[in-house]
Amino acid sequence: MTIKGTEDIKKWVRRTVDSETLAGIDEVVVFPRAKKITVRKNMSENTLKGLESKVSSCRGCGLAETRTNVVFGEGSPRAALMFVGEAPGAEEDKQGRPFVGRAGGLLTKIIESIGLTREDVFIGNILKCRPPGNRNPMPNEIEVCSPYLIDQIRIIKPKVICALGKFAAQRLLNTETPISQLRGKFYDYQGVKLMPTYHPAYLLRNSAGKKDVWEDMKKVAKELGLVIPPRKRTS
Ligand code: SF4
Repeated sequence: MTIKGTEDIKKWVRRTVDSETLAGIDEVVVFPRAKKITVRKNMSENTLKGLESKVSSCRGCGLAETRTNVVFGEGSPRAALMFVGEAPGAEEDKQGRPFVGRAGGLLTKIIESIGLTREDVFIGNILKCRPPGNRNPMPNEIEVCSPYLIDQIRIIKPKVICALGKFAAQRLLNTETPISQLRGKFYDYQGVKLMPTYHPAYLLRNSAGKKDVWEDMKKVAKELGLVIPPRKRTS
């Protein structure tokens, strides 16, 4: 739509502000010299879809140069339980989805073991783009990307966050304590209960850890008031 002339522009602004204020617009920015009017919605700050749209074009750190897809995370925007891992791997980068492949399959079984589905929870990572060669995330990448996770938590408002693996647990809790000592207990993360447990990829290499994860998930289920279905166990 092209609007020409000062009077038409004034009318358009008046009409737009009147009709859109109730629809979530809280700010109108006008650049008269550039003859350009920008209406800024607060969608990106208040909805998961809006935030996803913002993150999908993020070039905030060097990982934007090497990623195939941004992996924003997926699941229910009203999830009571949120899983947070470290960063996307090769398959996640390829598909643009979190926790796919063998480790993802095991996470799905872990979720189902407490009577939920992937659609009931939200699954994400601290970093939204894959570090090349699956190297550890760099401090500057964590610093730039972490606000997106904080926004996800603010929007979803989960009752429990489950930190998957050493990296996620240590970064979220700001500690260097080994995951073997962190796991199995609830901590406070920005007012939300956080349970660290082993990463599914670790369980694929060390099946003895599955018993510990099962104990951790039982505590999570109890905290959420879930009734654990019979004979559902991870394999
Ligand atoms: S890792 Fe995070 S900060 Fe870096 S480009 Fe991806 S979304 Fe942006």
